[in-house]
Amino acid sequence: MTAPIPVFDGHNDVLSKLLRGPAGAETRFLEGAPDMQVDLPRAQASGFAGGLCAVWVSTDDQTLDANGDLPPVPQPAALQQTLAQAALLHRITRQSNGAVTLCRSAAEIRAAMAAGSFAAVFHIEGIEAATPDLDLIHVLHAAGLRTLGPVWSRPNIFAHGVPFVMGHDPDLGGGLSAAGKDLIRLCNELKIMVDLSHMNDAGFRDIAAISDAPLVASHSNAFAICPHSRNATDRQLDAIRDTGGLVGLNFGVRFLHPEGIRDPEMGLDVMLRHIDYLVERVGIDHVALGSDFDGTFMARQMRDVSDVQHLLGALARAGYSDEDIAKIAHRNWVATLERTWGQ
Ligand SMILES: [Zn+2]
Repeated sequence: MTAPIPVFDGHNDVLSKLLRGPAGAETRFLEGAPDMQVDLPRAQASGFAGGLCAVWVSTDDQTLDANGDLPPVPQPAALQQTLAQAALLHRITRQSNGAVTLCRSAAEIRAAMAAGSFAAVFHIEGIEAATPDLDLIHVLHAAGLRTLGPVWSRPNIFAHGVPFVMGHDPDLGGGLSAAGKDLIRLCNELKIMVDLSHMNDAGFRDIAAISDAPLVASHSNAFAICPHSRNATDRQLDAIRDTGGLVGLNFGVRFLHPEGIRDPEMGLDVMLRHIDYLVERVGIDHVALGSDFDGTFMARQMRDVSDVQHLLGALARAGYSDEDIAKIAHRNWVATLERTWGQ
């Protein structure tokens, strides 16, 4: 058997899912947990070398308002969950005896991958925990935060997260608030990557106008193939291409299936169609993976990290060269983070 191709992935929800599950979150990740799509033993066995580990604030209330928006999260509750997940990431790293590395630079990612240590990057999707003074951003940056999405798919004080709507483009709701614009400027200053997945179109355009960094949608697919509001329109993909940014393929069926059907039998061919389209539109150097493992419903052919190599095998059979596959699997992510972060 040939060695697996190293994968550096743009999005997982391991931290929030571990904390919603049984006790012993650190041990469950480090020693293996069958209810998770990503744990360390399976990641190591399948070449899943690292990725952006998202902090995401969950709520019980999923009631949509008259505009179709999910309810905002109160800041104190968001802060508590955000710190709990950030602390979990630090505890996992400490207790791993070197098997997990919290990476703050591209050089650290490359070194961790070369050493066979899981290269974790601290990411936040939806910064409800912060207040307009942005003090928390400075503190979290010092704690290793290197990428953030201003919103998840709900409104907060910074921006308007795109609601989940099949059959509608992301042009839903207004753009960044004044505090949101300050947030983008601070991210540029601190060299925190700004993630556009979950932004609506007005917010996307505001960030494109303000940010001096490559535009990145870490876990979004092609709207032209699956017309879901969470996916990237051609105009957004062109903006990503024009800034030398990146789009990461989301493995969630609802963001892949052309009719939006939650079909567990959906094949890898649908994922390939999205990759082909994205590569055609933004170029082979700007397409990567953003699995959304432990955060969304996936098909039977993509049960967990162990199946990612099957996707890469399908790319090889479809004619992608070894070099192209290495770019999609990890190189493009590391290069884009390096351009964003500097050294
Ligand atoms: Zn997400």
